[in-house]
Amino acid sequence: MSTQHEIPSYLTQREIGPWGVYLEQIDRVTPHLGALARWVETLKRPKRILMVDVPIERDDGTIAHFEGYRVQHNTSRGPGKGGVRFHQDVTLSEVMALSAWMTVKNAAVNVPYGGAKGGIRVDPRTLSRGELMRMTRRYTSEINIIIGPNKDIPAPDVNTNEQIMAWMMDTYSMNQGSTASGVVTGKPISLGGSLGRHDATGRGVFVVGCEAAAKRGMEIKGARVAIQGFGNVGGVAARLFSEAGARIVAVQDHATTIVSERGLDVAALQAHVTANGSVAAFAGGEQMDDRGQFWGVDCDILVPAALEQQITEVNAGKIRAELILEGANGPTTPGADDILRDKGVTVVPDVIANAGGVTVSYFEWVQDFSSFFWSEDEINLRLTRIMREAFAAVWQIAEDKKVSLRTAAFILACTRVLQAREMRGLYP
Ligand code: NAD
Repeated sequence: MSTQHEIPSYLTQREIGPWGVYLEQIDRVTPHLGALARWVETLKRPKRILMVDVPIERDDGTIAHFEGYRVQHNTSRGPGKGGVRFHQDVTLSEVMALSAWMTVKNAAVNVPYGGAKGGIRVDPRTLSRGELMRMTRRYTSEINIIIGPNKDIPAPDVNTNEQIMAWMMDTYSMNQGSTASGVVTGKPISLGGSLGRHDATGRGVFVVGCEAAAKRGMEIKGARVAIQGFGNVGGVAARLFSEAGARIVAVQDHATTIVSERGLDVAALQAHVTANGSVAAFAGGEQMDDRGQFWGVDCDILVPAALEQQITEVNAGKIRAELILEGANGPTTPGADDILRDKGVTVVPDVIANAGGVTVSYFEWVQDFSSFFWSEDEINLRLTRIMREAFAAVWQIAEDKKVSLRTAAFILACTRVLQAREMRGLYP
């Protein structure tokens, strides 16, 4: 904190917020970085922050303005990479933290990227399709100055999907004067998207879930799984666990919580969500009125796959799962991490558990550059191998150094990032 100003810099603010959580995680890894610790400040400062005004003409003729961001946290190991989120609660602190977690994640699974993230503070459900397209295009044009296939490559995140990526790719291409499919990943297959990308994050959660369950001597068949968030990540993870014989005993989304001791029919629930926009009023389970009770549901595996800071000091004590797989980014606060450690819960951290999405995004980007596309089997095999290797490496560090899997993943990743920083040296 500056001694000259009364207001602390937003970079060093540690009030409860995603960026404060990230700074605390960096503090926890710093004692394990040896001589590289002298570079650690570089991880506490985003390289570049762009805040943009996104004005659109609404269907009724009025003008609306939205606040947009693109943050490039670190590019020591390669171009920036990370999703774009459309949500009413998006803040600079959130986007900074999400960009930093991308730096750590990309290094943890060893894909040649730095970390970046973007977002618009908007509830996209309040926009028509035309308004959504105009907002996406204007945002893309505004951040056009810092993105590009070799500079920073956006991808889907909360409330963004293949269609949004198609509009982003088209807008960037129109501005460049030529088609640039490698500027975003998570595109439709017809535009250079990759087979397997849609399911990749949920599949990665499932793969590391199987590895972690095996370490704990837990069978997936018959395991009871509770999932928060039933979108891209949570929905696919639910399907894969269910196909492997697990019972999905609870699902919570933005609207409500649905429980069933016998296990929810995931395909039927998916069809219901596609038709109705949420799990509310699903006939194949009971609705739980108190949202907070979700955390106390009797289960073996818990998958937070919605937003950050969901598992806190307030509810961590109630959790009955042995294993937590962080599908979401930043769902657990450091205080909750300590409570879970004391209870003996294994937490597979976001930077490993949900890295399947960026891993297949990397495959998509490579395929776009070479204009040579791989089969889905090949993609899933490579994805599974990378996820298993990353999990094994992190598990080993955790055992050797007697630290949590999160600190172990940060040791692996931050060492790679700071080694790159040191080798490159400071410019000029
Ligand atoms: P999505 O928009 O497809 O789904 C989000 C889900 O969360 C929806 O079911 C929504 O109803 C639910 N949700 C929203 N607010 C909630 C609340 N307050 N309580 C409970 N549920 C709520 O988003 P997604 O792509 O599945 O992303 C989910 C999480 O996974 C985010 O943290 C995201 O950053 C992370 N993630 C996504 C990817 C990816 O490839 N999509 C990759 C890595 C990490």
